[in-house]
Amino acid sequence: MAESTIKKIGVAGAGTMGSGIALVALYAGFNVILQDPFPEAIEKAHRYLEKFLSRKGLEGRMSILQLTEQLENLADCDIVIEAALEDLALKHEIFRSLDDRCSREAVLATNTSTLSVTAIASVTKYPERVAGMHFFNPAPVMPLVEIVRGANTMHPVIDLLSKFAVDLGKTPVVAEDTPGFIVNRVARPFYGEAFRLLGERISTHPEIDLVLRLGAGFKMGPFELMDLIGIDVNATAMQSMFDQTFGEDRYRPHPLQVRQMNSGNLGRKTGQGFYNYRGEQTGIRQDEPPPATGGKGTILFYDGLWNTDVRTLLTSAGYYPEDFPDDIEKVLAAFVTQSHSDDLNYELEKLDWLLPPEVPVFVQCHDAVLADHLPAGRYNGRFIGFDSLFLAQGRVATLVACDGLQRNVRGLAENMMRTLGRLPVWVEDAPGQILPRVICMLVNEAAFALQDGVADKETIDLAMQLGVNYPKGLFAWGNELGWRRVLSVLDHLMREYGEDRYRACRLLRVWARQEYRSEPGSQEEAGG
Ligand code: NAD
Repeated sequence: MAESTIKKIGVAGAGTMGSGIALVALYAGFNVILQDPFPEAIEKAHRYLEKFLSRKGLEGRMSILQLTEQLENLADCDIVIEAALEDLALKHEIFRSLDDRCSREAVLATNTSTLSVTAIASVTKYPERVAGMHFFNPAPVMPLVEIVRGANTMHPVIDLLSKFAVDLGKTPVVAEDTPGFIVNRVARPFYGEAFRLLGERISTHPEIDLVLRLGAGFKMGPFELMDLIGIDVNATAMQSMFDQTFGEDRYRPHPLQVRQMNSGNLGRKTGQGFYNYRGEQTGIRQDEPPPATGGKGTILFYDGLWNTDVRTLLTSAGYYPEDFPDDIEKVLAAFVTQSHSDDLNYELEKLDWLLPPEVPVFVQCHDAVLADHLPAGRYNGRFIGFDSLFLAQGRVATLVACDGLQRNVRGLAENMMRTLGRLPVWVEDAPGQILPRVICMLVNEAAFALQDGVADKETIDLAMQLGVNYPKGLFAWGNELGWRRVLSVLDHLMREYGEDRYRACRLLRVWARQEYRSEPGSQEEAGG
């Protein structure tokens, strides 16, 4: 069909998404026919469309809108977008009917979030004209639309829908028909790892949300976001991904997720989810990081793979990080950023002998857990694990206490982090703490999506930024963090848990090797 011939848009299903899509099409000036078999749904959609069109002074556009209960009235549409309930049998019924009634030229699209476009198209006589057109909620606000290519979809259909999305003022990205497409798939660990952190009592849900917001720049933490999306919707998406991939461990629903769904406390829509929306106090932590006051004094600094701008952070706050301070008695604190393989236990034992007993020693804590780093014998309770990967770039300091941490050292450590403008948050001793674990698992999922041919790197990065407001694309993030560091976090999660969900994507190993080889002084550079 030529683009210029797109005049009339049909939308089947007038719920949240159907009404939103109809509004987007009306804003863009298309004739719209919106269908739903339930009169209440039609009435609600009518009120919604009238309200939002008149807010923009576009009430006249109601004249190019038609509302109907009969699907057959969509027969003369050029494009039909199905946005009925997420149920394959129902979608089959709708597509069979549309396929029979619509002109051979018409394009049929589904807004499904998790079902297979190929499976939906399988009941039609012309599956080549069926594709996914996946809008995000709220459709009038979210800029991204995933155009999903089913196994039989013709190229011109993808081109036409992409162009149509642009005409609607949206940014289209093309994805292959694989479970969850791009965004719903790549975002899975955001929820999945949050549940693991909560379930294992490594942290609490308000602190996990706080750390992801302040530490990595997400607009909302996973629990706040699930409350907004609907805990049932999210749990169903997880289950669907798990089923469609024949039990891929990364998508295994968590018992807490299912329990929360069964409790009926589904989030904002029921007034209660992980947080409470009935009164003033939701329980969401809104703490702001302290102002960076800076400080003076010598810091003993052990440089290693995990020094990701930590030294620069200390220097810019006024401290003097030194490798070999002249006067050990004057050292305020020590920072150790070597990796576990660098004989860290021995180094820490030396430090423990060297420094006055109340001086805090911050140890990078991503690869092995803090307990693995610690000296084997007795030590002064002054070791604190810290997330050096995100300390410099975020506004939070996640800290792990060693067994027997002295109370005054705990206070000194918190104060030091506050002088750097970082909010201290204590977590239990587990690999990857909060941010490295969640972010590296997101990067891993993006790498798997790339490996599976869902889309290219740039498309995946763009989709995550526009579809779910991520502060950065995950390939850009992985590159910035360093592939070896990402891999190290994943390998240590794998080592600690021994679960398949933590296996690293092969591509990460390829990039980590390339990163190593491209470094000055590596064997390749030296001609090896
Ligand atoms: P919804 O429950 O708000 O709306 C579904 C509508 O389908 C209801 O109005 C219902 O009356 C109607 N319906 C039932 N039987 C029908 C039939 N035979 N023909 C036509 N309409 C029928 O659901 P929703 O959130 O709008 O989701 C709709 C679709 O969009 C689903 O496939 C969902 O996966 C997808 N989606 C949802 C979101 C989201 O965040 N809600 C985001 C993207 C995509």
